[in-house]
Amino acid sequence: MENELEQLKTENEKLKKTNAVKSDVISISAHQLRTSLSALKWILKMFLDKDVGPITTEQEGFIQKAFNSNERMIALVNDLLTLNHTEDAEIKFNFKKVDPLYLVEQTIFEFSGETAKKEVALVFLKPDAPIPMIMCDEEMTRVVLQNLIENALKYSNKGDKVFVSLKYNEEKKIVEFSVHDTGIGIEEKDKAQIFQKFFRTDNAKEKEIVGSGLGLYATKNIVERHKGTIWFESSKEKGTTFFVSLPLE
Ligand code: ADP
Repeated sequence: MENELEQLKTENEKLKKTNAVKSDVISISAHQLRTSLSALKWILKMFLDKDVGPITTEQEGFIQKAFNSNERMIALVNDLLTLNHTEDAEIKFNFKKVDPLYLVEQTIFEFSGETAKKEVALVFLKPDAPIPMIMCDEEMTRVVLQNLIENALKYSNKGDKVFVSLKYNEEKKIVEFSVHDTGIGIEEKDKAQIFQKFFRTDNAKEKEIVGSGLGLYATKNIVERHKGTIWFESSKEKGTTFFVSLPLE
């Protein structure tokens, strides 16, 4: 019996080591890929901005295509990096007191370029009552907000508005974030699978909206490591609201 236990322990240690090596390999290769893709991005952008001289409309079309697929690869590599970070139980989250109001305002500000380009307005419905500080990993909580806002913008139609709100439930001692859009929505048949790794709705794929199906899986992982909950309400062609609640402590 004791022998078996020892054997299991050794096996477990071995597996942990293999897993750590795998996770390092993913991280190193993803970072290297991202560096090369970023370099490529700036070269292609120089052509598109005509910094290197005039190009024909036909050439511009080809370069734009290359630029778009490079952007898709950068997004995928970013998703892989986040996922690797959140899935690895060995990686400790850095919990500290953070002001949720500041975090939301800052994140929204970072999207200003993107909202202008997409012609979708991002509106913060500021809370009337004060919001207390929460214990969380600031960077990871920002990733949660970024993913939800990015999706809301991505799955909205031109001219739509996306609303972000924040409230405090004093009784339950939780802070609740929500991101509401009036975009393409999620069909009943897809609802149960939304947080699964690599899952994308047919609706999103048919509309050729770019994505990897990794964002919400990673987001849920992060929320759960904070002992929080994530859920959503949605109807097809009407819109979607994602909610995240995080405990104060
Ligand atoms: P992706 O990179 O494909 O956006 P996510 O994991 O973030 O991956 O989301 C999984 C799928 O859930 C998406 O492909 C899309 O089909 C659906 N989805 C997520 N957010 C929304 C939203 N706000 N409105 C409609 N569909 C959404």
